[in-house]
Amino acid sequence: MIIDQCSRLAQQAVPWSCLLCGAATVHARICVPCDATLPRLPHARCTRCALPLTSGTVCGACLDHPPEYDSVAASYAYAFPVDALIHAFKYGGTLSIAPVLAATIGSASATAVDALIPMPLAAGRLRERGFNQAQELARLAGRRLGLPVLAHACRKVADTAPQAALPWKERARNVRGAFVCDADLTGFRVAVVDDVMTTGATLNELARNLKRAGAAQVSGWVVARTLK
Ligand SMILES: [Zn+2]
Ligand SMILES: [Zn+2]
Repeated sequence: MIIDQCSRLAQQAVPWSCLLCGAATVHARICVPCDATLPRLPHARCTRCALPLTSGTVCGACLDHPPEYDSVAASYAYAFPVDALIHAFKYGGTLSIAPVLAATIGSASATAVDALIPMPLAAGRLRERGFNQAQELARLAGRRLGLPVLAHACRKVADTAPQAALPWKERARNVRGAFVCDADLTGFRVAVVDDVMTTGATLNELARNLKRAGAAQVSGWVVARTLK
């Protein structure tokens, strides 16, 4: 608590330098000119999967095969420099980036939720990386939004091959049976927090387990969405 207050005072007294260009900033970790260049998702997007749309509210793919999750909220496209920020946070261990990314979690959501669930990381991957980036984002977003974080509601029991290495079609098969959700989530509206959503195969598999555990509604709250 005291440390929190001290670091807040220190942040007020010392101007930051922009995480992207290094220029001095006062109120944010990304300066105004850099912020204007960030790859925001267009307003017209699928309410289900967040991909850009030219008409309607739900895309053809979601109409043909409705996903297990109900909605996805993402502010940015997974493109430069948001991808570089996420990479530096996830693999470079630059934790000072976490609050900047966490501030975007849920900000594009049109639906209220009761609790946040960080996308679980398998034990092996957790040992490798040293932390679960989704848990860190959920912790900060939960604090900001006043929402509980159910960090232990679900576990990833299979150390699946990295999704990034697989063709899109194989991703759903790769994550089949990868999660276990023990908690009783009857009636809960939950948001799964993660850094990036690519095909949605992982979110879909976790959402299936969350619904089986009783969740009434499952949203995906991510920083960035990969565009096709
Ligand atoms: Zn800048
Ligand atoms: Zn869609």
